[in-house]
Formats: sequence, structure tokens, C-alpha cells
Amino acid sequence: MSGKDQDRKLGMGHEITRRDFLNGISIAVGTSLVGASPTWLEAFGVPKSPFAPEKDPDYYPPAQTGLRGAHDGSWEVAHDLRDGRDKDWAESLDDGESYDLVVVGAGISGLAAAYFYRKFAGTQSKILVLDNHDDFGGHAKRNEFQAGKRLLLGYGGSQSIEAPGNYSKEAIGLLRELVIDVRRFYKYYDQKLFDSLHLKEAVFFDKETFGADRLVPQQGLHYFGVDFTLENVSQIPIADAARKDLLRLQHASVDYMPDLTPEQKRSRLIKTSYKDFLLRYVKVHPDVVKVFQSSTHDIYAVGVDAVSAYDCAREGYPGFKGMSLPQSHEQNPEKDEPYIFHFPDGNASIARMLLRSLVPGALPGHTMEDIVTARADYARLDDASSPIRIRLNSTAVKARHMGDPANAKEVEVTYVRGDLCPEMSEKQKEALAYCVKIPLVYTNVQISNWKAFQKLGVSAIYAPGAYFSNVTLDFPVSMGDYHFPGSPAESCLLHVLRTPCAPGQNCKDQYRAGRWELVSTKFETFERNLRDQLGRMLSAGGFDPASDIQAITVNRWPHGYAYEYNALFEPLYQAASERPCVIGRQPFGRIKIANSDADGHAYTNTAIDQGYRAVREIVGA
Ligand SMILES: Cc1cc2nc3c(=O)[nH]c(=O)nc-3n(C[C@H](O)[C@H](O)[C@H](O)COP(=O)(O)OP(=O)(O)OC[C@H]3O[C@@H](n4cnc5c(N)ncnc54)[C@H](O)[C@@H]3O)c2cc1C
Repeated sequence: MSGKDQDRKLGMGHEITRRDFLNGISIAVGTSLVGASPTWLEAFGVPKSPFAPEKDPDYYPPAQTGLRGAHDGSWEVAHDLRDGRDKDWAESLDDGESYDLVVVGAGISGLAAAYFYRKFAGTQSKILVLDNHDDFGGHAKRNEFQAGKRLLLGYGGSQSIEAPGNYSKEAIGLLRELVIDVRRFYKYYDQKLFDSLHLKEAVFFDKETFGADRLVPQQGLHYFGVDFTLENVSQIPIADAARKDLLRLQHASVDYMPDLTPEQKRSRLIKTSYKDFLLRYVKVHPDVVKVFQSSTHDIYAVGVDAVSAYDCAREGYPGFKGMSLPQSHEQNPEKDEPYIFHFPDGNASIARMLLRSLVPGALPGHTMEDIVTARADYARLDDASSPIRIRLNSTAVKARHMGDPANAKEVEVTYVRGDLCPEMSEKQKEALAYCVKIPLVYTNVQISNWKAFQKLGVSAIYAPGAYFSNVTLDFPVSMGDYHFPGSPAESCLLHVLRTPCAPGQNCKDQYRAGRWELVSTKFETFERNLRDQLGRMLSAGGFDPASDIQAITVNRWPHGYAYEYNALFEPLYQAASERPCVIGRQPFGRIKIANSDADGHAYTNTAIDQGYRAVREIVGA
């Protein structure tokens, strides 16, 4: 079949809603806070004739289509600055605005910082929040779809409130003040739905990697790893010896390091990738590694070649039953709390509730239920009558103390950006630049029905060799006026994950390679791969990619998860003060640094905690 015929069969070019959301900037600091005395004055490089697309009544980013994200207009300034092409906007104009606090970044950390600052410094505090994107929330991004008259909501980034029992008192306190009661998700998240329909997880083996396309069910529903029955293993297109090894790996209780003490085992496993553990210690056939290769993508955004065996042991991967590893206080917190704390638009609801609290009239309602379907009024975000203003489509390019950083009363912030803070010490800049943000793609696909999933008995598919490593039915959450499409005949959303990387290299180089891939991949490539893969996975259940796909939103995050240190490739930092994120986040005069990067953990609670710490550095001092 020619390429054109194949495209026609897949439905390329069909009238659907297409969106490409790309977030990406090359600055080292995600959220910076600039605190000042009430007399503080800033100069901003805004043109005198105001550029204010947000005031247009049709301005509504969550439902926008086309090429988006570090959408045209959001990343060019940062890239220009990185590449030394800043002449055009080097001359800034003073707009005469004056604030008590300027926050760079309207992600959860920046919005939380504004919230905490107002709490400490008073409701009349004047705060400006700048963000380079056309929407607020940062990674906490809302995607809207329309199935006839029905609204379907998806999360373009930050997915769920993970293990809220582990949140700090500030982070959980903030959620409570925003009236988010996480216990209600036990009612809103239908934990029985997929079980009642006998849906399990399955693994899709693709012919390019495994020689044949095959969908093989697993034993049950697993968040992680692979778990096959004897009968299912026989369907996997791998060598016979590999099938036996896979079963041995799953079931045998063997100590693969009998000469080591539990502590020595732990140290060894921290420095051994899971891939090496399988090959060198369990001595499995190499095909077994292929089965596991991308199973870590969801959390680590790299494969098992770049994730330590110790981390895999903690996540419940097979092979450690007989190893008597030391009981650790670092047990996976998710084991104690179900993964159900999910708003239909993910943690975008947290960002939206912060906005509702900060900017009166921007979002109607009062409850965690009515926020779900409330429509934001973007024209209210940057209103001169409000003490707190959120200014989108604005890239901060320079923050400079007016005088000596130690004593300065004012900071001048220029928007448009790059070397955000030229006066900062090289050591601190280096520490900030140490982090390589992790690239990943969350794609939301609206399909006309999910009968194929029902027929095939699957709710989630892991695809170790394919372009997209995971395809899952949306989380079954209904709250307020929003109802999950609980019948397989209804239109619903699929969540589809790709984490581009370069197996075999160290994790930072893998992330850089993945980022390059993301920024240079066209929407059309994502769409073609998506249609092809969904068709091959689901056609046995009657799915037709040409007619069943109704809309696609590709949320590309070249600068996605905060960088988390990987002991396989770098030192084990013994003291917190040695960690580059701690060195990098030190207060610099009136400039304070928040963001989840400042903690080295890609979580909502760390974004809030870092916002809180940065504000304490301003008001506590
Ligand atoms: C795909 C994905 C899924 C995730 N899932 C989860 C999850 O399920 N649970 C969880 O707890 N966490 C999750 N996270 C982690 C998530 O990053 C954090 O939860 C949190 O949202 C980070 O918030 P932040 O404000 O620190 O950073 P961001 O969300 O990155 O916000 C920072 C904002 O500042 C802007 N900015 C930076 N520099 C400038 C500048 N100079 N000028 C103007 N604007 C600027 C950025 O473009 C961005 O909009 C996920 C992250 C990603 C990428």
C-alpha cells in the first residue's frame, strides 16, 4: 500500500479537532519571585500600545485548536535570548507599574507563592504574575473537548494529587483553604467501573520490535511492571527461552546476590540499572529486557537501562522476592494511598482554584465540584482594578537589582528573557542550569466510543516497543456537573503517553535527545503514529482509526518533569546543601526562587512547598 493509501485508511486529513500543545523554554528558573518594599518601582519592557489578546471575548486557550503550547509566541523570546538574538527587544520602556511582588511563572508554584504572599503581607498587596504561555497553570494544563453538547475534560500535564497523605502541612493546608477535600475522591472516582466490565491491563507487542503485532492481557490491573500467567506468556512473541525466563523472574524466590549483606545489596542495586540486574544477575534472555524496556517511561521518562534496580524493587518490579532487601523508610507512598485523587482536568483544577481565590470574578463558583465545569474569564486576569494581576503571553527576560543586591530596595524586571539574572554568581547559575527538565508528551484523544476496549477486555495498554508507550482510558471520575462517560457506547478520552529518549546514554543526554525530538516533531507525525498504533492495537475489537477518532490534543512538554537526581549517573548527595537545586535556589537579594525544580521533585506538593519557602524568604526575613 502506498503512503497516501495508508494515510487515507488511517483517516489522516479527516475533519477532526487537532491541537498541538508545546511547552518549552530554556530558562533555568521556572518560578522566580521578586519581593520589594511598597515603594518599589519596576520598569517593564512592554510596548505602549497594549498587546492584550486575553481581552478578546473569544480568547479561551483550554479549547483552542491548532499548533499550541510553547506555542508560537511563547518560546521564541527565550530561544532568541539563548542564541544572542536579543537586539530587537533590548531597549525596554518603562510602563510605570509598581508591585510589591512580581512572580515569574503562573504554574502552581507561582500561583501558590502569590497566594502565600497575600496571606502574609495582606490582601492589599500588589502582585504581578508573568507567564510566557497563553494559559495559566504551567504543567497543570486543562484540555477541553466537545462531544456534541457534552463537555469532555482532559489533563494536558500534571495528572493527579499523588499521595496527599505525604503532603506537607503547608501544601495540604493550601488545598484545604482552597476547599479541596481529597477524601471526596473516594466517592468521585469509580474504582469499581473497569473491574465490573472485566477490563484488565494488556501489553501490545509491535511487529517492528517483536516480529508480530499482538495484544496480550496481563493478570489484572497494574500500575507498574508486567505480570503474566503461564497461558498468556505463551502468546508473547519472544524466544521460548525468554518466556521461561520471564516466568522464572516473576515467580522464583531467589537471592541473586547471596554473598552480600542487605545494606550492600541496596548499595549495589542503587548503582545497577534494572536492565543490568536482569541480564547480569537474573541472567535472563535479552528478549525479557525488551518486554520491560519502556515500563518505567511514565515516571522516569527513560527506560530500564537508566533506572536503578533499587528503584524498580521499590516500585514492585519482579526479581526481588528472595533478596531480603532492607526495609526502607523510602517505601513507595502510593502503596498506602490509592491513585484516585484526580480532577477530570488533573491538577489544572488546583491552578484554577488558586486563580479563583486570587483574582475575583475570574472563575465563578465556590466548591471543588463546581470548579470542574466553571469557565474562566481570561479578560479578568490582568485587570488594573485587581491587586493581583496575572499577565499571560509575557516572558520575563531580565531581573536586575537597582543597586547592590544585598541592600537594593528595588528590582527592575524586563519581560521578553534568557540570562534572567546576569548579576548572579556563576556558581549559583551553574547549579540552576544543572537540572535538565524531562521531556514527555501527554496526548488526549477523543474517540467516538470505547466498545473496542470492552470487547478486548482492556482498560490500559503498555506497549514496550511502540511509539507511544502507554494508552489508557481516562480516569473514571464524576463530580459536580461533570460525568465520566461510563457506558462504552459513549464518546470518551484516551490518555496516550510518549517519553522520547535515547536508550544507552546517561539520563541527562537521553532527556536532551528527547527534547530535541519533541521540538522538531510535527503534529502530523504524532497523528500518523497515533492512528497507526491505535488501529493495530484495537482493530480486533472493531476500532477504526479513520472513523473513531474525533479529536486529538498533543501536549508536548520538552521541559516537563523537574529533574530528579539519578544515582546511576551522579553522586549520592549525602547532605541536602550539596544538591544543585538547593545551591541554585538560594535567595539572591530581593530575588527568590520557587518552582518544583527548586526541590528536584516533579510534584504538585513540592511546587507548593517551594512557593511557600520562597515567600517565607521574603516576608519572614
Ligand atoms: C506531563 C506532566 C505530568 C505531571 N503529572 C504530575 C502528577 O500527576 N502529580 C504531580 O504532583 N505532579 C505532576 N507533574 C509535576 C508538575 O510539574 C508539578 O506538579 C507542578 O505543576 C509544577 O509547577 P511549577 O509551578 O513548579 O512549574 P510549571 O508548571 O513549569 O510552571 C512554571 C511556569 O513558569 C513559566 N515561566 C518560566 N520562566 C518564565 C519566564 N522567564 N517568563 C515567563 N514565564 C516563565 C513556565 O513556562 C510555566 O508556565 C507533572 C508534570 C508534567 C510535565
